[in-house]
Amino acid sequence: MTEYKKVFDEISEVSGGKGVVLVAVSKFHPYEMVEEAYREGARIFGENRVQEMREKFPPKGERPEGMKVYLIGQLQRNKVKKALEWADRIESVDSIPLIDKIEESCEALGIDMEILLEFNSSGEAQKSGFSSEDDLMQAAEHAAGCSHLIVKGIMTIGPLGSDEEKNRRAFKRTKDLYDKLAVIYPSFSVLSMGMSGDWRTALECGSDEVRIGTAIFGERA
Ligand SMILES: *Cc1c(COP(=O)(O)O)cnc(C)c1O
Repeated sequence: MTEYKKVFDEISEVSGGKGVVLVAVSKFHPYEMVEEAYREGARIFGENRVQEMREKFPPKGERPEGMKVYLIGQLQRNKVKKALEWADRIESVDSIPLIDKIEESCEALGIDMEILLEFNSSGEAQKSGFSSEDDLMQAAEHAAGCSHLIVKGIMTIGPLGSDEEKNRRAFKRTKDLYDKLAVIYPSFSVLSMGMSGDWRTALECGSDEVRIGTAIFGERA
């Protein structure tokens, strides 16, 4: 048993049936836990390392019906091809050179790929992501010009710690930026923010996708 159902029901209740997507973050947990969550209704899983994702999940096309894996952790350029072969979406795109590398590898593989641009909404130095609104707007424009990329929206990780007001400021800033870009780019439909400790605040601020690990699978080893 995982807590998937419980978390899913809580999210549905809080979001009032808005259809928020729940990404079950399975990093550090074995595939048996993924299968359990799948039986309980989970379909989209999040992993933050390319190697772990490839070792854990079956290749695309050999997975149980509807199972998808999103890469949510920092991606090095030399691992892009390996990531694209396995992931259904890259949610942690954090530089223009990385955008170019993904586009080039998509071309070589003959595929298109959904991406989210990561925004460093807290300004914390240890976080990745575009750190200013201008940088993110430029990245969106650049990515929109890449024929193999489907820019679905923005992902952010809230500030460290559990200061709710601080979280709210970071999430509101991200939502404002998302709204600006969504007017320009019709492919935008995903604002991914909220984890085990801050998803309620994120939903209040307009998130439509939460990425939850600990509350579903328990503490990571
Ligand atoms: C690990 C991780 C999560 C899930 O965090 P929990 O606090 O365990 O829910 C969400 N997003 C990213 C980018 C992560 O690396």
